[in-house]
Amino acid sequence: MGIEKSVSELHELLVDKDISSIELTKAYIKRIQTVDPELKAYLTVLEDQALAQAAEVDRKIAHGEVLGALEGIPMALKDNMCTEGVRTSCASKMLENFMPPYNATVTDRLRAAGTILLGKVNMDEFAMGSSTENSYFAKTRNPWDLGCVPGGSSGGSAVAVAADEAAFALGSDTGGSIRQPAAFCGVVGMKPTYGVVSRYGLIAFASSLDQIGPLTKTVRDNALVMNAISGYDALDSTSVSYEKPDYTKFLVNDIKGLRIGIPREYFGEGIDPDVARGIQAGIQTLIDLGAEVAECSLPHTEYAIPAYYLIATAEASSNLARYDGVRYGFRTEAEDVLGMFKKTRAAGFGQEVKRRIMLGTYALSSGYYDAYYLKAQKVRTLIKQDFDKAFERFDVLLSPTAPTAAFKFGEKSANPLAMYLSDITTVPINLAGIPAISIPAGFVKGLPIGMQLMGKALDEGTLYRAAYTFEQNTNYHTLKPNLSKEVLACGSR
Ligand code: GLN
Repeated sequence: MGIEKSVSELHELLVDKDISSIELTKAYIKRIQTVDPELKAYLTVLEDQALAQAAEVDRKIAHGEVLGALEGIPMALKDNMCTEGVRTSCASKMLENFMPPYNATVTDRLRAAGTILLGKVNMDEFAMGSSTENSYFAKTRNPWDLGCVPGGSSGGSAVAVAADEAAFALGSDTGGSIRQPAAFCGVVGMKPTYGVVSRYGLIAFASSLDQIGPLTKTVRDNALVMNAISGYDALDSTSVSYEKPDYTKFLVNDIKGLRIGIPREYFGEGIDPDVARGIQAGIQTLIDLGAEVAECSLPHTEYAIPAYYLIATAEASSNLARYDGVRYGFRTEAEDVLGMFKKTRAAGFGQEVKRRIMLGTYALSSGYYDAYYLKAQKVRTLIKQDFDKAFERFDVLLSPTAPTAAFKFGEKSANPLAMYLSDITTVPINLAGIPAISIPAGFVKGLPIGMQLMGKALDEGTLYRAAYTFEQNTNYHTLKPNLSKEVLACGSR
């Protein structure tokens, strides 16, 4: 009942009193109970709290109050965004029982907008990964093929939206973790400009790269959620003070004259030819709609993966030093305090998190700092300059969001390097701090693929315009995975 609809459609239903927020919330909870035992998107479901929040909105409707765009809309938060009194685990044993005493800014803003928090969703531990296989708790499954990963690290967020277990969700993106799962699950995912959405209360992975953004069914919904969560926040020292637009103003079905650059490095080695073909077809659609398309080059792209995996791990090694058994969460007892630190960290973190702490500590250690960390920072600048140069000629750049469609469980998890290499099309964007959106752009062997549009800093608006035009002239976003009883039953075998 309504759960498959977009946020903007649900808003109409609420305003017209065709459905109440309580009915809608109950419908989502029923959906979670039906599909989530197999899909495992949720780590925590907040049934009572959600129904109480919905009742509040219904009272407002009954009193004839004007309803905000997101009021009464049920949604989910990635489990690295702090929720006061509600467990925020980062999908780690280390924070298995962590109850934050405060809300993240995004949590507060979505509450102020009147949304209903259905629960907290799964992710790779501390947002480290590209498949959600690194969660301590569960493996979230791709609704389009239960044998495939949903992408990561915001796999739970993407699945919740794709499988109609939430009207929208927030994810975080350090090197692709909103866009890549959005692509793998056939939904829209925006990684905003660094500093546009507050990171206050987002459990830090790599502070200079992390950014929160919306995963939604449509481009319009994405702009609506951005309106609610973006904007300056004094609690985040890297928050950008800028004139915040109404992002829905950019939702016009017109890209005549829009200059789109196609970076050739993003179609090279490692890109599945079927994915490349699918994106080429998308480019043709944009040309037919009046865009001016030309090839370009981002020559330092091949250095993005090593630079990213040095900078991200260096920052992570510092950010994760606080989990020592004293300040937060899990503790293992030992003879002395040093032993306690060691045992706690050995048992509390999963393999991938430990690998990154070691890599990052090494890159920052004296004698290696200049060769690795400092070098990586210089490469970061070169990558940023590649983009600056390209944006002198183009309004938007376009690529596949990921080199392949969703892969099978276990296909890459035994080989960290193969997993890291799959991030080649997303990490440069975080290094440069610019915005990028992934939109549904077709299917390869029954699995969705995403088209990535990259923009100038603070120019989310142009991305929304291009994405909206593409969406209005294609039907990929209207197709749904088959989650019939039969499909769910065979998934459990
Ligand atoms: N896959 C990348 C990594 O493992 C990106 C993760 C993210 O964006 N949180 O670091």
